[in-house]
Amino acid sequence: MASTRSLDLVVFGGTGDLAMRKLLPALYHLHCDALLPPEARIVGVARDGLDDDGYRRFAGQQAERFLGRDFRSDDWQTFAARLAYAQVDAMQGDSFATLADRLAARPDGQRVFYLSTAPSLFAAISRHLDAAGLLHGDSRVVLEKPLGHDLASSRQINDEVGRHFGEDQIYRIDHYLGKEPVQNLLALRFGNALFEPLWRREWVRDVQITVAEQVGVETRGDFYDRVGAMRDMVQNHLLQLLCIVAMEPPASINPDAVRDEKLKILRALRPFGAGDVAARSVRGQYRAGASGGKPVPGYLEEPGIATDSRTETFVALKAEINTWRWAGVPFFLRTGKRMQEKVAEIVINFRSVPHSIFGVPASPFHANRMVIRMQPEETVDLHLLAKQPGDVMHLQPVRLNLDFAEAFRSRRLEAYERLLMDVMRGNLTLFVRRDEQEAAWRWVEPILAGWDASGERPKPYTAGTWGPAASSALLSRDGLSWHEEI
Ligand code: NAP
Repeated sequence: MASTRSLDLVVFGGTGDLAMRKLLPALYHLHCDALLPPEARIVGVARDGLDDDGYRRFAGQQAERFLGRDFRSDDWQTFAARLAYAQVDAMQGDSFATLADRLAARPDGQRVFYLSTAPSLFAAISRHLDAAGLLHGDSRVVLEKPLGHDLASSRQINDEVGRHFGEDQIYRIDHYLGKEPVQNLLALRFGNALFEPLWRREWVRDVQITVAEQVGVETRGDFYDRVGAMRDMVQNHLLQLLCIVAMEPPASINPDAVRDEKLKILRALRPFGAGDVAARSVRGQYRAGASGGKPVPGYLEEPGIATDSRTETFVALKAEINTWRWAGVPFFLRTGKRMQEKVAEIVINFRSVPHSIFGVPASPFHANRMVIRMQPEETVDLHLLAKQPGDVMHLQPVRLNLDFAEAFRSRRLEAYERLLMDVMRGNLTLFVRRDEQEAAWRWVEPILAGWDASGERPKPYTAGTWGPAASSALLSRDGLSWHEEI
């Protein structure tokens, strides 16, 4: 139920792509479902010289585009009444007076500052908000990724933001944690006794986590070329998903109980030594190919990309976790742009039966598998062998679909909706703590350094495929295949 306390949600970068594509649509849905406090107001902040009406008009045009069929003009009108705008240059302390004026009428209300700008502005925004007297005890700040470029820069940002906000006021967002199937994985693992005894090295052969995009760098080439797939996807989303799969049962759903367990996994990841980088990692870069039946350019031909760029658009890694539960179980992580399909999934491959009495050879193809899909649709499937109807004992793989949409007919919240609700409620469980983030950087840094030191270029792959051949080889060395190749 919505709180009755007033709320000012201040979105720095309020005219940007993320605000228009994800944040305002999420807030619009929450508004339509009466989940926003009645007194909630959304203040967009950017340097552009807009007034409130100009911002509402701009946001309305973008909302029609991004909400598609969910855009209803009368609902939008009531939502737009919550929107306001403040022209602020984050680098100019004086300009925060405009925002102070906008917030002055509600000094005791809840304040959430959502920093949807480049992370290079996070320190200045925090400093100027404090200097303008806009922070109080339970003000909250939401930080978008990527938080820094490496461990040192992420520490610097965290130190600077931490001078003005306590750790319990800082919400580092990883929107994959807000996805319904990821939370269902927590529910399946820790709400049922069935899976826990199987969730270990004796029964799990390997785990595969894939986040594949069909798109290339689109209009964000300049940003992407400085970041690459490791920093954009692996350091945050893929490692967080790995933690959710691998962590020990926390004592409670309390934020620190959950985050302590995730941290233990990040710290137990086997480090990449100098010799490991070539053996356990693959980095790739797409070349011209086809996507959706249309020819598409290679990475180096995209706008904003340096002609000799070595930025990786594909990463595959073999991670290992040095704990009793997981010793010897490979966790394969893979992400890329211009892949054959858009898919985000976690695959838990169980071991084959030790001996088949049905004449079906014990093979990985016939082993049980749990597939948790976040994209393109949100599903959880259990792959089992069952008897085909008929007079002979013929076994066939079947999918037991845990159809939550059918079981629970209420609308599912999009990840950003769920996470924005959590920020408003003050629930940090699904947000990344500073020590987790730093442990993740500590693990990926030697891989990045190893790539640089090797002097090799990323391996080329044709757009519209599943990445370089070396990615399949990474698994075949263990006698395994990626899920789509099985
Ligand atoms: P964007 O489209 O470039 O928008 C940047 C926003 O920041 C604009 O509203 C811009 O407006 C404002 N801005 C820039 N400099 C400013 C300044 N000095 N003072 C005040 N406002 C300023 O970027 P984006 O794609 O929305 O991304 C925002 C953040 O979210 C980035 O950290 C990005 O990595 C992260 N992120 C984005 C996505 C996505 O899908 N777009 C996904 C995940 C994470 P003015 O130029 O008018 O000031």
